[in-house]
Amino acid sequence: MDQDQLAAADAVVDLDADQATCPACMTELEKGNGRCPGCGLRLF
Ligand SMILES: [Zn+2]
Repeated sequence: MDQDQLAAADAVVDLDADQATCPACMTELEKGNGRCPGCGLRLF
């Protein structure tokens, strides 16, 4: 994984941010929710 790929992955699921974006449906997620409200994908 090179630096560009690493930066892209970090932007999709950034566990240090207050919000993250679901990689499946691009719904904004609240940290600590653990499951995407849009598609039900379990993230963390
Ligand atoms: Zn989703």
